[in-house]
Amino acid sequence: MSSTELNLILLGPPGAGKGTQAERLREDFPLAYVATGDMLREARREGSELGGKAQEFMARGDLVPDEIVIGIVLERLSADDARDGFLLDGFPRTVPQADALAEEMGKLGRRITAVLLVEVPDEEIVKRISGRRVSKAGRTYHVEYDPPKRAGRCDVDGTQLVQREDDSPEVVQARLKKYHEATSPLIDYYEVLGLLRRFDGSRSPTEVHDHIRATIATLRLEDQL
Ligand code: AMP
Repeated sequence: MSSTELNLILLGPPGAGKGTQAERLREDFPLAYVATGDMLREARREGSELGGKAQEFMARGDLVPDEIVIGIVLERLSADDARDGFLLDGFPRTVPQADALAEEMGKLGRRITAVLLVEVPDEEIVKRISGRRVSKAGRTYHVEYDPPKRAGRCDVDGTQLVQREDDSPEVVQARLKKYHEATSPLIDYYEVLGLLRRFDGSRSPTEVHDHIRATIATLRLEDQL
């Protein structure tokens, strides 16, 4: 692996601020951004077969089956722009997904640089998600904590902000349950591999971002030794 190649995973519960951190990290580093939730929502908007299959799982806060998600991610990671580094957001979410990713990395002679775990307590998540609004392009705001300059409109492209259908309180509970059951085992998984880095997601987005950047800078220095 070249010492400049960054292959990062953002891990954490829904509403931890992964998307916000991803936006900032993409301004810092030229990373291919691979967000499975965005890809699945896009497939649904397009009315593709994939979108149709994913729809029912997403609407009730369930995970989309591994074989579907693994397929779209591995295909995306083989694209040219992902060759020099990527940022995975929302994948892997299960141990079989993490195993599939590890196998693919092995085949390609690449490795994960770090897994960035953004931690936030459940009660805080429910508060955050209920006020979350998104633009068509997937930029996130919060009506109270991170409001757009003009109410209901994206600062960047002016499109109308909406609430995701799976951000309703009942579906959020289901998503959190899934996170604790299926995704949180990945914390140990990556800790054992020495890849896990923890961040306090209850801090401000800027503090979390500064901390992540400092961690990445240290990782790069270590890599060059
Ligand atoms: P997100 O935008 O990451 O919160 O994802 C929204 C929804 O898409 C999730 O609640 C799941 O239904 C589905 N989804 C996204 N990523 C995955 C994944 N890696 N595995 C299974 N389902 C996923």
